[in-house]
Amino acid sequence: MAGARPGGEGFSLSEPEIIRRYFLDRASGGDDVIVGIGDDGAILRPPEHADLVVSVDMLVAEVHFGREASAEDIGYKALAVNLSDLAAMGAEPAWATLALALPAADEGWLDGFSRGFLELARRHGVKLVGGDLTRGPLAIAVGVYGFVPRGTGLRRTGARPGDLVYVTGTLGDAALGLLISQGRAETEEIFWDHLNARLYRPAPRIAEGLALRGRASSAIDLSDGLVSDLGHLLAASGAGATIDIDSLPLSPAVQAVGDARTRFELALAGGDDYELCFTLAPGSHITLESTSAHCIGRIEEQAGLRFVRADGTRFVPGSAGYRHF
Ligand code: ADP
Ligand code: MG
Repeated sequence: MAGARPGGEGFSLSEPEIIRRYFLDRASGGDDVIVGIGDDGAILRPPEHADLVVSVDMLVAEVHFGREASAEDIGYKALAVNLSDLAAMGAEPAWATLALALPAADEGWLDGFSRGFLELARRHGVKLVGGDLTRGPLAIAVGVYGFVPRGTGLRRTGARPGDLVYVTGTLGDAALGLLISQGRAETEEIFWDHLNARLYRPAPRIAEGLALRGRASSAIDLSDGLVSDLGHLLAASGAGATIDIDSLPLSPAVQAVGDARTRFELALAGGDDYELCFTLAPGSHITLESTSAHCIGRIEEQAGLRFVRADGTRFVPGSAGYRHF
């Protein structure tokens, strides 16, 4: 890791000052944090009889967010996308680490970023226990650490023919919000707040993940779009699925999109929704109210992902989700 002044020049505040002011002083502690921010490493106490679930995600300026995103939104989302991964594993989040590369120590930016990040952390009882800071093109790497009772972590691999496929929440909102923020689509003003919240403030489905633990046969979170992410789940499970297009849960904002194909494309290929997609073996009843989940299809032996309309006709999506390369 770096010394006191990352990159030598460019930061008017020293690294320890930045860390203390924006992260240490604002972060919360707990009995499970023996040593937090400030030493060479954190000393943490895992609960007994638990498996540790770990996930890391990077966000890079111009790739994962554009200039229009506020520092607070970026801070919030950097943690939210990671917590979404823990949700998909059924884990209860405990700790986070944060590595930041910044072009300059812009105090307004740091203030907003740490507020957004730590506001969401507090909401889920997540303690920021360490990180790193360096000068460089804006990039953010967040690690999250959570727990499941031994042997109960959810995986992508367990879907079996006959299982039903579910998604939480609604699909396509973030993608529609992005199109609108880029001036590539229009919508009524009454939908703006909802779409902005879905794009910049996705709610990680932690409670839903916990409710699925020990019940769902498989699970994944939807970061790149249903086609892409359900595709990963199916590949991991060695199965296929048929999805009923007309049963996809759509918000009033997406329902208001006039063109049916655009509506379906948003729901199928739009990324950034951070809902959970999971499968249940037939007869395994869970209180679906606690997950606000909708059944959208069925797992089949035949590999691949097929889409049908309510009238039985096939639907072929035009794009396959967000591509990183
Ligand atoms: P070292 O040089 O020993 O790696 P650093 O000077 O990088 O230590 O960091 C000092 C302390 O501050 C460490 O405990 C580290 O985990 C913490 N820290 C550094 N950057 C951040 C950050 N962005 N958010 C939270 N904690 C941080
Ligand atoms: Mg360092």
